[in-house]
Amino acid sequence: MTGKTVVLIAEDEVSQAEVLKYNLEAAGFEVRLSINGADALSQIEENRPDFLVLDWMLPEVSGIEICRRLRRIDENKDLPIIMVTARGEEEDRIRALEVGADDYMVKPYSPGELVARINAVLRRTSPSLVGEKLEFSDLVLDLVSRKVKRNGESLHLGPKEFKILQALMERPGRVLSRRQIIDLAWGQNIYIEDRTIDVHIRRLRSTLGGDGLPNLIRTVRGFGYSLDEEQN
Ligand code: CA
Repeated sequence: MTGKTVVLIAEDEVSQAEVLKYNLEAAGFEVRLSINGADALSQIEENRPDFLVLDWMLPEVSGIEICRRLRRIDENKDLPIIMVTARGEEEDRIRALEVGADDYMVKPYSPGELVARINAVLRRTSPSLVGEKLEFSDLVLDLVSRKVKRNGESLHLGPKEFKILQALMERPGRVLSRRQIIDLAWGQNIYIEDRTIDVHIRRLRSTLGGDGLPNLIRTVRGFGYSLDEEQN
């Protein structure tokens, strides 16, 4: 790793931007701030960051418009972007992804979750910028040695359980449908029955859940699963 990953936060709510800055710096990022859309665009043009955290509702130029414009410029086609929105509607999320955001988050969210999401997007888009470990709560998944630890204890997972856990840890707090889990752990266009996923999740839970530790995998009935610290 050379130097710090530079994150530009485009957010007009100054107190929120300051909280994020503090937390991202604590997580090892270099942070720049921008409080309006036009300024964000000119900052990116003058000195391209490694990552953009982009509020949807910004003065002058909206986050959606910024995203759309950046994706038209060759050198910014691959700039990793997480769109932040107060709008949780499904169509808004889809729109954010359609204009080229790599991920989106709905306010309010915890700074810790943002850090995890940034690392997950970086791992997909710029693997050289991140370490090879995923962490969530007391879980650590090492992508190089392919080892998993919980609370410092090594766990033995089967290859599919490992991939499912990796998929969940790369998207903490996000609900994954069974179909998405199949795509991520088995590959696309593979036919696997839903109950097969449930069997693997049950095995994964029982391996993770030794010694009365809290269950980290939440079932979203009729849909899928997510990795969550707060179950109840
Ligand atoms: Ca705003």
